[in-house]
Amino acid sequence: MSRSDELFKQAQQSIPGGVNSPVRAFNGVGGSPVFIERADGAYMYDADGKRYIDYVGSWGPMILGHNHPAIREATHQAVDRGLSFGTPTANEVTMAEKIKALVPSIEKVRMVNSGTEATMTAIRLARGFTGRDKILKFEGCYHGHADALLVKAGSGALTLGVPNSPGIPEDFAKHTLTVTYNDLASVEQVFTEVGDQIAAIIVEPVAGNMNCIPPVPGFLEGLREVCDRYGSVLIFDEVMTGFRVARGGAQERYQITPDLTTLGKVIGGGMPVGAFGGKREIMDFIAPIGPVYQAGTLSGNPVAMAAGLAALTQLDDEQLYPALYAKVDKLVDGMQQRADAAGIPFTTNRAGSMFGFFFTTASEVTTYAQATQCNLEHFRKFYHSMLEQGVYLAPSAFEAGFMSAAHTDADIDATLAAAEVAFAALK
Ligand code: PMP
Repeated sequence: MSRSDELFKQAQQSIPGGVNSPVRAFNGVGGSPVFIERADGAYMYDADGKRYIDYVGSWGPMILGHNHPAIREATHQAVDRGLSFGTPTANEVTMAEKIKALVPSIEKVRMVNSGTEATMTAIRLARGFTGRDKILKFEGCYHGHADALLVKAGSGALTLGVPNSPGIPEDFAKHTLTVTYNDLASVEQVFTEVGDQIAAIIVEPVAGNMNCIPPVPGFLEGLREVCDRYGSVLIFDEVMTGFRVARGGAQERYQITPDLTTLGKVIGGGMPVGAFGGKREIMDFIAPIGPVYQAGTLSGNPVAMAAGLAALTQLDDEQLYPALYAKVDKLVDGMQQRADAAGIPFTTNRAGSMFGFFFTTASEVTTYAQATQCNLEHFRKFYHSMLEQGVYLAPSAFEAGFMSAAHTDADIDATLAAAEVAFAALK
């Protein structure tokens, strides 16, 4: 029995399902999870000392690779100054200014501790600002686990087959309307019926929780136009896409200006950090200057701010994003070639440093329905072959993959060689 297997057995005695976040349990692929002991650059090392080329990157934050020296150093120095004060600090101001510079639609920003907190509060703020109750989300988009947003959600909710969680009263979820991603007509229809009651549209501008599905041309433009027409707030949930699909996030990549933006993952450099920000007049509706309440004992935590600022500072490197995109192209094109050569029905998506693989006969995947119709048996077999060969992919067919600055051409070549073996085994 491997050390990971032993640990998983032990973990299940004391932690529900043995994990502190559901998708980690490998429910989506079967088998038991690897327990990671340390990580460096593009690699993670498990409890048995085995090395993996990592394309999960802690589910997105590790755009610079694991254990980046600048982040490590800044974090160590912050630890030496004290872990938490519960007062304002200078670094919070620097952080806010840095975020505004990178994401110009953000005129004011508030730091929180997770993506879930960011989206939950953005929704509350949009409701308080508009005086309306209803929100519109898209099937398969995941915005964290706040009650109102855990309706037809993606990620673990999709992997585990519990898109509507028990424990959420009907009354809490009834104001959440759900329509089809990449289908403007479904949005128009709902707005025609109840548009004057809709506080906000919340959307992943590149969907990354039903595998990776970029917006079709016109989709995000259409959402902006509908929100303008009905006086609703457009919220881009850029927890995953922020600083990832472009330095300025999806709003830079697709040139659409949302009213509010939620951020997470990359913004903390690996520490628990989230943020929401946007138009001044909406943000000024939040406490202490506005009536909408929000707070956090550890929000803007000095150690987390130090790590996050160090990470965001590294993003100024002009070479970073072109290099990331080129590596994604090499990986994704290489996978497609090898799948084609093996005669395995397969297609891919990519957006900046995010990508997705689909075992499907469809020539392209643009909808939730297509993503869920993929061949899960092929995915599971492929997954375990790659894992065996030392390549760590997200353990679910409904998650995006992430490239980091630390991945080398040699790492990608090794990944493609492993994929060739994995595809051959599917024949
Ligand atoms: N929004 C999106 C788009 C996400 O991908 C996630 C997490 N995967 C969240 C919100 C929730 O963030 P957290 O897990 O930090 O609460």
